[in-house]
Amino acid sequence: LFISFEGGDGAGKSTQLGLLADSLAAGGHREVVRTREPGGTELGRTLRDLLLHGADLDPRTEALLFAADRAYHVASLIRPALARGAAVLTDRYLDSSVAYQAGGRTLPAEDVERLSLWATDALLPDLTVLLDLDPARLSERLTDAPDRLERAGSEFHARTRQAFLDRAAADPGRWLVLDATRAREDLAAAIRARVDALLAN
Ligand code: C5P
Repeated sequence: LFISFEGGDGAGKSTQLGLLADSLAAGGHREVVRTREPGGTELGRTLRDLLLHGADLDPRTEALLFAADRAYHVASLIRPALARGAAVLTDRYLDSSVAYQAGGRTLPAEDVERLSLWATDALLPDLTVLLDLDPARLSERLTDAPDRLERAGSEFHARTRQAFLDRAAADPGRWLVLDATRAREDLAAAIRARVDALLAN
């Protein structure tokens, strides 16, 4: 079972990931792995630091570094965990690249998608949960000082949101789109219901 959580910063991805992980563990799932991109591995943490706090990068370099993080994440952590029978929950995955590096930074979406599919050897999640949030509400919810990428303008965030919504609409079988302003427990229950349906198949 491989599930990704997507959405803008401050939409509650990590909270919902944690609630689902706890719920799967309580339900007897023998191993639940929680991870994130960028930075799910040791190499990834170095890349995350470069991406978030390093120099301004041109869009292609940025896309390649996110893809490198993802390739190593899949090869060294995600695939081995799935092979052991673990449930893997990741805070962001390849749809973030299509939303941010293509939607946000306007690289061609087909190129970014192809790069990600090459990096992951075409590993797609069984389910992708999109916590959809109007970017205008973003600044209200961000508590920490924004990093380099979060400081991008409101048009950038509007484009990334639209890219997520477009991808979800194109592949509803893989996606669950939820309004991130709904109550935490309500969102958790909706996610759990969809996961249960997936497990029953
Ligand atoms: O979700 P998290 O806070 O870990 O993401 C770190 C930053 O990287 C965020 O500002 C997010 O918008 C950005 N990001 C990005 N492209 C990706 C993944 C994340 O610009 N593919």
